[in-house]
Amino acid sequence: MSDITLILLGAGSASRFKLPPKKQWLWIDKEPLWLKVANDFQKIKSFESTVIVSSKDDINSMSNFASYHFVEGGDSRQQSLKNALKVVKTPYVLVSDIARCCLDSDMIKRVILAKNNNGCVVPTLKVVDTLYFENLPIDREASKVIQTPQLSPTKMLLKALSSNKEFSDDSSAIASLGGKIIFVEGSTKAHKLTTIEDLAKMTCLKAPSTQAMTGFGVDIHPFEEGKKMMLCGIEIESKFGFKAHSDGDVAIHALIDALLGAAGLGDIGEFYPDTSDRYKGADSKELLLDTLKRLHDFGYVIGNIDLTIIAQTPKLLNYKRAMRFKLANLLNLNPNLVNIKATTSEKLGWIGRKEGVAVEAIATLYYYDWTKNENYHN
Ligand code: MG
Repeated sequence: MSDITLILLGAGSASRFKLPPKKQWLWIDKEPLWLKVANDFQKIKSFESTVIVSSKDDINSMSNFASYHFVEGGDSRQQSLKNALKVVKTPYVLVSDIARCCLDSDMIKRVILAKNNNGCVVPTLKVVDTLYFENLPIDREASKVIQTPQLSPTKMLLKALSSNKEFSDDSSAIASLGGKIIFVEGSTKAHKLTTIEDLAKMTCLKAPSTQAMTGFGVDIHPFEEGKKMMLCGIEIESKFGFKAHSDGDVAIHALIDALLGAAGLGDIGEFYPDTSDRYKGADSKELLLDTLKRLHDFGYVIGNIDLTIIAQTPKLLNYKRAMRFKLANLLNLNPNLVNIKATTSEKLGWIGRKEGVAVEAIATLYYYDWTKNENYHN
């Protein structure tokens, strides 16, 4: 069994990366970037465990995709790393940024081979340009560019980070304790993905798969007298509304489940629980917009949606067009990609007895194609 735990840091807000998806959620063939990086590391070396540090919201979704150990990040890189170190049981840790997404396996093997009980192993590059410090040139032969991943003894790194000082990397933290710094040859391939322009340098990143993903959703609500009836974000003239924790827009609820289903992200109750006061009387349009933002953050775009509303009453014929345009507008889709069907249950069962309404929805999603953005030149 390995005595090294891999820590991948990905909790930063990535505010310099201006695309609809977060950079760790760019799709590389059929994997999000963060998962590709974690899986690529396992192909180089079997670690005792892999700890992925990210924001709380991301972790909830990431944990549906892989069985790695997920830890919530802090306000800074240092705090995130401290949170991760709390769950580490091995004597050594290899720490990398998720954004260093093209791995040079030879370099990583060099770092691991140089493992040292007394200090931090650091990959470095020679400086090729002339360097000035303030107004004077400095000896570039004696200068190095520091890269990651870096390998440290776990206890030494924990101790170094417990000081209040902010360090820019693990080696400077270890050096502050008087620990040894062991330099190994780095790699010019190990770029960090910071801005969209960097994408063109990342030759290891394949374009996203063009495969469509399908999701299905169903929702049912009973009628309740004296409440406004909302369906697809449109107010329907009726003596009844829907009994519900939220505004009861049963059509939007089924649609949210179809969208989350296609994205592999669970169901509506996990994101907007009907036990939470926060969603009491909630406007379902807001929940749909929040779902859409989540889909965009995680690198999905909607292909089309199709809903069937099963209701004995009210009659919906005259509302279908308005519903289509309302949902198209909310989701920023062409109206031909939004289909609304209405049917009755031929007076059978609880729908036929006019006790409530059921809605079925289907949605297709695609991965956002980052190779087509105007700043990407390959
Ligand atoms: Mg519902």
